[in-house]
Amino acid sequence: MNAQPIIFDGHNDLLTRLWLSSAEDPVHDFIHASLPGHLDLQRCRKAGWMGGLFSIFLPPYAYVKNNHPEKLLNPSGLDSDSDSDPQQIVDICCAQLELAQQLQARSDGQIQICTSLDQIQACQQNQQLAIILHLEGAEFLAIKPDLLDIFYDAGLRSIGPLWNRKSIFGDGLNAPFPHSPDTGSGLTNQGKDLILACSEKNMLIDVSHMNERAFWDTLEIINQPIVATHSNAHALCQQARNLTDQQLEAIKQSNGMVGVNFDVAFLRADGQRNTQTSLDVIVDHLDYLINHLGEDHVGFGSDFDGCLLPDDLSDISQISMLIERMQQRHFSDQLIEKVTSKNWFNVLNKIWK
Ligand SMILES: [Zn+2]
Repeated sequence: MNAQPIIFDGHNDLLTRLWLSSAEDPVHDFIHASLPGHLDLQRCRKAGWMGGLFSIFLPPYAYVKNNHPEKLLNPSGLDSDSDSDPQQIVDICCAQLELAQQLQARSDGQIQICTSLDQIQACQQNQQLAIILHLEGAEFLAIKPDLLDIFYDAGLRSIGPLWNRKSIFGDGLNAPFPHSPDTGSGLTNQGKDLILACSEKNMLIDVSHMNERAFWDTLEIINQPIVATHSNAHALCQQARNLTDQQLEAIKQSNGMVGVNFDVAFLRADGQRNTQTSLDVIVDHLDYLINHLGEDHVGFGSDFDGCLLPDDLSDISQISMLIERMQQRHFSDQLIEKVTSKNWFNVLNKIWK
């Protein structure tokens, strides 16, 4: 077996981490030096990680205020529940788009924002890092709807309209462990309109942060493969963010895809934030999802730079440990290739048309 398959991954939070970074020039550090956290260009290259969906994300206000108050224009504003400082919400999302553009512009051709499978495959051939722009939580589009077109023109091709908090687009998904995904009401009319507008643009619609009603609402209004970019099997870990067998069946019927999240709290049967978690648990989720969805519909959705990883997979440089574990658990070379990249390429190609 090719000891190191190419890895393309359904979800990471690098852009948010760059935005939150206190380094003088985090874009430079990502490209040329080393950056604390799970990812930087050098480590990604070595590991065969060629990119994936990069999230533009508005972090919870309390988190930013407590850990990075210098990032707030007005630390008393930005109450994400009441949208009390809309300009700042817009600015944060625009700043993360700009960071992605800077990564591309300052990388001497090593990093590329991609909007088609051809571009992704060219990145694979030329050993470039492929950035697919994804939006996680769309509050700023409620403030400035015309930004959807502007972000689309800049390369945005994937959207998860909801995050854990309640917004104008629908209820959040914030529940104690254990919990079913049924945590409240579904999409509002604005939420449905946003999803339809994005679907018309052939964008990926991500259900990973939707509660169950919003999930079914989404299925009702769009006719395209349904994708959960970073969620796991609810049967193995009863986090509200994980997917029930019924949801998996619906994703399968839609010809969709699930990316397995490496966050220990979404993997472990006890839901604990305990990093002493065996990589076998990731393989258990992969196995379960493959059994329910088929081997063409499962990939990685690591959540690198936005999650708590198992000790044996402390950053991208350790990804080969997971591949080895998959081999030990009798994943064929062909199946490993599907899970590590090919399935993502296929589903993106189907959705983007
Ligand atoms: Zn997420």
